[in-house]
Amino acid sequence: MRGSSPAEPDLDVAVVGGGPVGLYTAILLLRRGLRVRVFEQRTGRSAHSRAIGIHPPGLRALAAAGVADRLSGEGMRIRRGQARFGGSLVAEVRFDSADPKYPFVLTLPQVRTEQVLEERLAALDASALVRGAAVTGVRQGPGSVTLDVAGPASDASVTARLLVAADGARSGVRGLLAVPRTGERVLDSYLMGDFADDTGDGPLGVLYLEPDGIVESFPLPGGTRRWVAHTGALRPLDDAADLVREIRRRTGVKIDPDSNTMLSAFTVRTGRVRRMVHGRVLFLGDAAHEVSPIGGQGMTLGWMDAAAAVPLIVRSLRGDDVGASLLRFQRRRRRDAVVADAQARLNMALGRPLPPAVMAARNRAMGALLRSGPAADAVARRFTMQ
Ligand SMILES: Cc1cc2nc3c(=O)[nH]c(=O)nc-3n(C[C@H](O)[C@H](O)[C@H](O)COP(=O)(O)OP(=O)(O)OC[C@H]3O[C@@H](n4cnc5c(N)ncnc54)[C@H](O)[C@@H]3O)c2cc1C
Repeated sequence: MRGSSPAEPDLDVAVVGGGPVGLYTAILLLRRGLRVRVFEQRTGRSAHSRAIGIHPPGLRALAAAGVADRLSGEGMRIRRGQARFGGSLVAEVRFDSADPKYPFVLTLPQVRTEQVLEERLAALDASALVRGAAVTGVRQGPGSVTLDVAGPASDASVTARLLVAADGARSGVRGLLAVPRTGERVLDSYLMGDFADDTGDGPLGVLYLEPDGIVESFPLPGGTRRWVAHTGALRPLDDAADLVREIRRRTGVKIDPDSNTMLSAFTVRTGRVRRMVHGRVLFLGDAAHEVSPIGGQGMTLGWMDAAAAVPLIVRSLRGDDVGASLLRFQRRRRRDAVVADAQARLNMALGRPLPPAVMAARNRAMGALLRSGPAADAVARRFTMQ
């Protein structure tokens, strides 16, 4: 791909990564009339379901891309969450007063969210997403950035005025530009699976705070439920029956292992770049900050990055001096990432195993605290990223 004159880059913005954040960013940029391409190394979407929870700020961001109504029409709306212990209710938190327009946390498998975003992108520009295109080199010049792109038909160099790196937690662009990231591996592991929902809990999110570690249970569309169980170390996952047995042992809930549609075991990593802007390159989403999935805020955080970045990208391409605004943008985004990280760490701490008597006392104290209106409201606001 080459521009019409040597001085004119091929694109206004090249986006590396066609995950939820790259697709979303490209939609907003195309709606502003910019020339945009998304380079995605995968030839198809990953069927491995990661995010299911979309919080009210995520829904507000999705509204700006014109997909919030469609997604919230398809997903399950969680308006209440319960904590249980030994078969009894510890506490209930309501999410329906946190945001008047979106009084719920939406659940939908990430693969479906990405599909809807991809369709929206294609409706704006059918050639905006280039699949099977891995970015293998990035060079910054005075007026443009040059990308080496391998595939899909052949290798090519592409120039763009700006580059958005939305290439995920293991960002190759970060590596190519030697951008440092602080990070750590947290010593918590989890088993996760989706099963037919026979619990009778309907649209309720449930946390089972049990001595052998937390079990989380969230409704999904299509009469299914996601179950996540804390494990001491990363366990080899032979079949769904392992997870089903563990859930039954800790909570008493019976699940049909044959109804399993997704199974995974994961450990937790966290990390952040110090600066999201490096010359003509802007890091967004997991490429900028990876937070623990326990808290389920990473995808929403990435969309919030993009919603805040796009007006600055537009102004900067117009030639405005956006230096001070970019500094404010980075401070604000970093602060939100730090808060999401702290929330996820609190959630992980709540879910670790404890001796039965200590767990019982801790849960009693938590239940008493959450019976006070202001404490329950504060927890609901935190859980819904308000
Ligand atoms: C188990 C689990 C559960 C989670 N649950 C939630 C939840 O409930 N709610 C929530 O908000 N978040 C959740 N998250 C986090 C969420 O999945 C991530 O925050 C989100 O996927 C980040 O989106 P992204 O677009 O920044 O990165 P990614 O989704 O990682 O996408 C990056 C894309 O870039 C592509 N790519 C990488 N390198 C290149 C290259 N060199 N050239 C071209 N393409 C490239 C990759 O193929 C990929 O498609 C969960 C995560 C996990 C692991």
